[in-house]
Amino acid sequence: MVSLARPADHLSGGPCPWPYPRPAIEKGTAKGVSSLRIVSVHRELVAEPTVHWHVSAIGIGAHPDRIDRWLTLPDALDAIDGGDHFYTIGDTSKMLARVRRSVCPLCLHHVIGSTSENVPDNNLHNLPSK
Ligand SMILES: [Zn+2]
Repeated sequence: MVSLARPADHLSGGPCPWPYPRPAIEKGTAKGVSSLRIVSVHRELVAEPTVHWHVSAIGIGAHPDRIDRWLTLPDALDAIDGGDHFYTIGDTSKMLARVRRSVCPLCLHHVIGSTSENVPDNNLHNLPSK
């Protein structure tokens, strides 16, 4: 007789534990996952290896002229790791750009950047600082 792969107590009583935690393929439905628009950024200068800018904090808001809250770069990276989606929308182009974790090509630190460079006005680095 072949024994069941699952213990019998999973088959009776209580919620079935299957499937195990799902991969992050389901968008926007999982608890705690949100889609957040970045409307402003803070930048800071990094001195090494050459002087360049990092986005050090992002302002989240449903409307470009109102920031609901600020996230520091580490908080934003944690949120991305937790499944939250960040994006920008160009003021003029109305084009959406996804914002993702990336590695700074200059200093190799983990940073965030927008994925679309096709239009300049939704580039994360071009957002206004408020
Ligand atoms: Zn850097």
